[in-house]
Amino acid sequence: ELVLSAMMRIPRHFFFEPAFITQAYSDHAFKIGAGQTISQPYTVAYQTSLLNLQKGDKVLEIGTGSGYQTCVLIEMGVKVFSIERQKELYDKALQFIPAMKYNPKLFYGDGFKGIPGYAPFDKIIITAAAPYIPEKLITQLKVGGKMVIPLGEGNIQRMLRLTKSPDLTCIEEEFDTFSFVPMLEGRNG
Ligand code: SAH
Repeated sequence: ELVLSAMMRIPRHFFFEPAFITQAYSDHAFKIGAGQTISQPYTVAYQTSLLNLQKGDKVLEIGTGSGYQTCVLIEMGVKVFSIERQKELYDKALQFIPAMKYNPKLFYGDGFKGIPGYAPFDKIIITAAAPYIPEKLITQLKVGGKMVIPLGEGNIQRMLRLTKSPDLTCIEEEFDTFSFVPMLEGRNG
């Protein structure tokens, strides 16, 4: 319910090009430029719920994209650090999200590397299809922290939730399957 009410407070049509705003409240992913998509609302809600967010959590998001998921996280009362590898999308988010009166810390970079300078994080959410579990992100997760990651190459990914144990290994839980754009190495643009 907390996730749904956070989503209700965010006008999703603001994240769409004017020509497509009639699509903004259908439960679908949609093109946002640079070959990327704004995630389906169901997927945003699903991943956000799995994070078990607590107010004040420090959250790292991989794949800023349109910034919609970023804003949902902020509405949940957490502090967001978000990385995007597509320069065009990063530049747009940098203008647009503050104009919406949301204030995440945005980075142009490679999500596989995380943001060591701001680690450790309570939660990490990956919003692209990860081909493997990025070790550096596990390192940047607090003990007791959780990472939600769509894992798998190709068209279908399995949603995993990893919880970091005191011995620094992770407990793994598996959830439903989804279809994300790929998480790619390096920056683009
Ligand atoms: N959270 C976004 C989802 C966008 S789709 C939203 O709500 O709109 C996934 C995004 O991840 C794309 O913008 C893509 O460019 C980005 N991405 C893919 N690989 C990445 C990487 N290694 N580091 C950072 N961003 C990445």
